[in-house]
Amino acid sequence: MELANKTIIITGASSGIGAAAASLFASEGADVVLGARRSTELQIVAEDIKRAGGRATFLAGDVRDAGYAAGLVEHAIASFGKLDGAFNNAGVVGDMIAVPEMRVENWTDVLAVNLTSAFLGARAQIPALRQRGGGSIVFTSSFVGFRNGGMPGMAAYAASKAGMIGLTQSLGSEHAAEGIRVNALLPGGTVTPAGGEGNPDVLNFIAGLHPMKRMASPKEIAHAALFLLSDRASFMTGSPMTVDGGMSVRLV
Ligand code: NAD
Repeated sequence: MELANKTIIITGASSGIGAAAASLFASEGADVVLGARRSTELQIVAEDIKRAGGRATFLAGDVRDAGYAAGLVEHAIASFGKLDGAFNNAGVVGDMIAVPEMRVENWTDVLAVNLTSAFLGARAQIPALRQRGGGSIVFTSSFVGFRNGGMPGMAAYAASKAGMIGLTQSLGSEHAAEGIRVNALLPGGTVTPAGGEGNPDVLNFIAGLHPMKRMASPKEIAHAALFLLSDRASFMTGSPMTVDGGMSVRLV
């Protein structure tokens, strides 16, 4: 029970990595607060957790909205009395297109969903964690935008995910003395709707980029998030942690 008696917010919990993390965290004793845009999907994940004996609640909304970030924290406190951590994981890839052809709206939107949401989440979560005398915040960054992660057509996504590492470093340093740890998780290619699930050609191409010659399952990434949110990671803050099948150390 790595997360016993901890209340954890998980965004992007309606599918992929977030849904796997929600189930895993609940099975490790956490009370989970699920966030994403679609209520119906969130309700299904929450019901599955409850059927397995866990405790879950959800609030649908848009992570680009500062009011939603605050609402998730209020919902956690109203439901479970406190907040101990957050897995700020919602994200989008956006249009895959070279920069000269990229719509300004695509750039702005990808930065808003991936990077500004991380800022808004942390901004709302830190005061609640401070009240508990500490806590853990994890952002889902990516191998894209990190070492050996240059992917043509993904400039907005890469910039947003690299920006999250800078945010992680600043927040990790700013709040370390308060017992609030902030880390970034950098998954490699993961079999999810955003990761090409259902499209064998895309999955084979992405798998082949990795030294391990395969993609991760959402559960493998969820286990790494579990570690960062648990007290086992008690001396880790400000870190970009790769869980990428060797992608960031490949030579070619
Ligand atoms: P996914 O599409 O299965 O899940 C994305 C989640 O984010 C969904 O729950 C969706 O509802 C939510 N979301 C998207 N936009 C939102 C918004 N504006 N407001 C609220 N919720 C919103 O994809 P996934 O692969 O599980 O992605 C999870 C995270 O992992 C993302 O940040 C993604 O960039 C990152 N990531 C994925 C991979 C991969 O290969 N799948 C690799 C590295 C990083």
